[in-house]
Amino acid sequence: MRTEVAVIGGGSTGSSILYHLARAGSPSPLLIERGPAIASGQTSRSTALVRTHYSVPVVARMALLSYRFFRDFGELLPGYTAGYRETGLLIGVDERSEGSVRENLQMLRQLGIRSDFVDMEQVKEIEPLLDTSGFSAVVHEPQMGYAEPSTTAASFAGAARALGARVLTDTTLIGLSKTAEGYSLSTSGGEVEARQVVLATGVWSGPIFNSLGVPLPMKPVRHPVAIYGRPQEFQGIRPTVFDFPRSAYFKAEGQNLLFVGSMESELDASSPAADPDSFDEGVTYEEIEKYSEWTANAFPIMASKGRYERGYSGLYDNTPDQQPIIDELSDFGYPGVRCLVGLSGHGFKLSPEFGRLMASLVMDGRFDDYDVSVFRLKRFETGRLLKSKYSLSTIG
Ligand SMILES: Cc1cc2nc3c(=O)[nH]c(=O)nc-3n(C[C@H](O)[C@H](O)[C@H](O)COP(=O)(O)OP(=O)(O)OC[C@H]3O[C@@H](n4cnc5c(N)ncnc54)[C@H](O)[C@@H]3O)c2cc1C
Repeated sequence: MRTEVAVIGGGSTGSSILYHLARAGSPSPLLIERGPAIASGQTSRSTALVRTHYSVPVVARMALLSYRFFRDFGELLPGYTAGYRETGLLIGVDERSEGSVRENLQMLRQLGIRSDFVDMEQVKEIEPLLDTSGFSAVVHEPQMGYAEPSTTAASFAGAARALGARVLTDTTLIGLSKTAEGYSLSTSGGEVEARQVVLATGVWSGPIFNSLGVPLPMKPVRHPVAIYGRPQEFQGIRPTVFDFPRSAYFKAEGQNLLFVGSMESELDASSPAADPDSFDEGVTYEEIEKYSEWTANAFPIMASKGRYERGYSGLYDNTPDQQPIIDELSDFGYPGVRCLVGLSGHGFKLSPEFGRLMASLVMDGRFDDYDVSVFRLKRFETGRLLKSKYSLSTIG
């Protein structure tokens, strides 16, 4: 099989890249996914929050453009859906983080992002059941919601197919070698010739980079999610809550569930690297106890009327500054092989922009809308890391 561009990995990243390549006129781009279906990896475990509150300006900008894409998904990809639902976001902060949040809001406003402090009376109107006693201030970001992650990836891949792209599932990339015309990919389904290659292999990227001799500073870290049933009084569409003092997030899912997860930076710093093919995919008793306490404190009604339903764990592909690696591996002898990995637990919401910028890099050799060179691998050698204003995991 021959192709101009082979994209490896059919999660939200690879599927969006495939779609944007096909839409930009790349002739029959090919997606290679080792699982039985699109979104066989971490995308299917995502809580899929789509927010614009970031503190690294270029990431905030990517988040804003991606948010607009999710909002308009059905118009941009007629006949397909991301299952996007707008809920708004409340961010509760304390004295330790209020200053940096205040500074950050100015930057966000300049980018056109609606995110501002609201008084406690307004918070009560937006979410009457949230206990605000631990917060010195609360930010409201109305333009925030969540999507259905597997559906989003499948929609990107489906729309790409309709434009002539090809998708191979149950096919694993084993290795690649240079040819006169590009690369020969050795896969579990046979050889594939490609002029250019994009690696969007998430937490499974380690062995591929190793085989290429490219150092990859990425650690797969296990992140549990506990799911609670909400009582009658707490049902319906509600805002997501980021609780900075507790380093917790609460996502009111659908009609009556509450997904609870951690934004503790210690979790990313001190957790051992997980094996993506063998890790504890459940939630431990201690984790349930801790998340239940957070939940009962943030929403007192949950203490008496909420109930623990179930839980699961997924993996973040963390880099040292918790921002993606977007690069071409030409410095390592692989011109035309690019990567978009190391998304550090917040890559779903950015998938539309990932696709747009990578399609431009592949097809034009450049992307001019903003500077993506800040995401290059060499930043970890030169120490020019992307700096967040917050000390929380994933907030960036
Ligand atoms: C619990 C949890 C909650 C999250 N919440 C959010 C959130 O609220 N908002 C947000 O923006 N992000 C969130 N994220 C992060 C986000 O989900 C991920 O960054 C994103 O989905 C990763 O997509 P991906 O396509 O890069 O990786 P994946 O979805 O993991 O896709 C990589 C694909 O590559 C395939 N693959 C790997 N190796 C090979 C090979 N050799 N050959 C062929 N195929 C291969 C895999 O099978 C896989 O399907 C969360 C993640 C987790 C785990």
